[in-house]
Amino acid sequence: MRAALGLQKCMLFVDKFCVDQADSKRKEAGILGLAGFLECSEKLVVCWSPKYFTRLWCAYEIASWFFLQKPASVIIFRPLAQEVMTLLILLSVSLFCMSLDILRIGFPHLHTLSIRSCFGIAVVILFQRGVTQAIRSLVLLEEQLANFSIKQTKCYCCTHDHKNPDNGEVIPCDRKLVYATLREWQEPMCQSQDEALSFFDNYVQTSFATSVLDRASALRYPYTQLLFVTQPMSWRAADLLAAYGSMPLGDLAWWVASYLGLGFLILPGFYKLLFHVVAHADRLSGIPSNVFKDWLVSIGHMICGIVLLILMTSAPDVLAQKCATSTPVIAYYIGIAILDLSLFDGWRAVGCLYRKR
Ligand SMILES: [Zn+2]
Repeated sequence: MRAALGLQKCMLFVDKFCVDQADSKRKEAGILGLAGFLECSEKLVVCWSPKYFTRLWCAYEIASWFFLQKPASVIIFRPLAQEVMTLLILLSVSLFCMSLDILRIGFPHLHTLSIRSCFGIAVVILFQRGVTQAIRSLVLLEEQLANFSIKQTKCYCCTHDHKNPDNGEVIPCDRKLVYATLREWQEPMCQSQDEALSFFDNYVQTSFATSVLDRASALRYPYTQLLFVTQPMSWRAADLLAAYGSMPLGDLAWWVASYLGLGFLILPGFYKLLFHVVAHADRLSGIPSNVFKDWLVSIGHMICGIVLLILMTSAPDVLAQKCATSTPVIAYYIGIAILDLSLFDGWRAVGCLYRKR
């Protein structure tokens, strides 16, 4: 397809499949050549799972990138948990929107605030557990980076006591090879192997961690990504606009504004608040290892999510019904915008814009 479109060939080096895992000689050659492949690479894509920083080979890849003096900012760091969370939120918002359409068209007499809240609650219950697990995984990433030590990583040879479990043959130690390479790379700066390893650990814990966590962390989950997943609400606004002329203009304007408010302000704020609740509740209780306690904490998260969702999404409707003027509703949206700015570190961006002027 790329050739047909006249685009450059896209070459990929996938470590797991491109380094021979069976033949020890070819494996060693592949490992020694890893830095060479990385030198020719424009980008390094890391698909992170909690096992990533526990593997010697993954740490060695990062070490090679560091040795080649390539910036950590061009590493595309994709925690799989973040992708799962994005998908779950997108599914939950889409399902909620669909349920609203079914109610509006099929059962207009049921299209009330309380029934809509019930659908919202059902959607939160359905996806809360998955989102909680994903947030926990991202919190673990922060801990792994803060406490990283290459000596703590695992590799196949050391785990199997340097003997092939199938035929008892001796396997050469990968760790010795990696450590010797790290020592060689940092020869002028570090006098001993231990010093070289500590130097690398420090790099991962500080500048590498800062670069990664700026883009991949539950509590720094960017507004743009949440905006992307809450867009089904804006599609509903567009859908309603298409119905122009079929309902009073005032009602139409109210519905369109309320869905845009949900998609752009309320839901991104709601999800970010929920991430904070889950992360802080876990930190306070310690992530429970006991299954029963774990579910109990998850139910606590769920209740918090439901209460937050009802409070945040139904407030504009309640204010519109109870107050004679639209001022309280506008004030509410301004309040949510200020909350979003604080949650997504927006004040820094506003400050930068102000200084540029
Ligand atoms: Zn070993």
